[in-house]
Amino acid sequence: MISVEVKNLVKNYGSTEAVKGVSFTVNSGEIFGLIGPNGAGKTTALRVVSTLLQITSGSVNILGIDLRKKPDEIRKLISYLPEDAGAYKNLTGRAYLRFIANFFEKNTQEIVSLGIEIANLGDKIDDKVDTYSKGMKRRLLVGRALMINPKLAILDEPTSGLDVISAQEIRKIIKNTAMRGTAVLLSSHNMLEVEYLCDRIALIAEGKIVEEGKPKFLMDKYSANNIEEVFVQVVK
Ligand code: ADP
Repeated sequence: MISVEVKNLVKNYGSTEAVKGVSFTVNSGEIFGLIGPNGAGKTTALRVVSTLLQITSGSVNILGIDLRKKPDEIRKLISYLPEDAGAYKNLTGRAYLRFIANFFEKNTQEIVSLGIEIANLGDKIDDKVDTYSKGMKRRLLVGRALMINPKLAILDEPTSGLDVISAQEIRKIIKNTAMRGTAVLLSSHNMLEVEYLCDRIALIAEGKIVEEGKPKFLMDKYSANNIEEVFVQVVK
């Protein structure tokens, strides 16, 4: 089932054209990656789908709801984790999740329990956030983003800046979330990680999608060993 349908999306900042007519779909239970170098327009596209930026032209539909017409309804279905998200340093991990869970109408205790399970911080969940490593903080934030069981999770560079072990843990969490039926839309400039992480990817450069498909399909198509090689060939 199609969860997200983005058609000819354009987003300008004044005279800067950040996203220049991008189209893609994400199905429920699927991990779809917008992959490209810094400045390609990934964050801008994700922020538009998250209802945080206004569409210049084109359309975004989430579960058949037009984002322009009913952004409030869309906000109930999605969860967005910005790349630079932070948590309140003086709260414990558990108190932070509880604080966030209070904003939702659903059963707070259930939400917090799922958040704790996803973050998987063991006893450290009762330590203050400012004692956490970067990897632990990201796990807490990913737990926060996914504990509401969103129909669509939008994750901007979820593994960036993490060591290999922490990045691997985050990837596993994302995979498990998709298995529960959530559609995942993520961005990454790390072209070597997406082969494992994403079911389908769109390569984006200078605001335009230049290639799209399953990682394996693209590597075969370009006789490439990895997605980085595919990207280099496509933009050459
Ligand atoms: P990415 O996430 O792929 O690194 P961005 O979406 O952040 O790319 O940026 C795409 C383009 O839009 C870049 O040229 C960037 O400089 C520009 N841009 C991003 N945010 C703003 C903004 N708030 N105002 C003006 N230009 C912006």
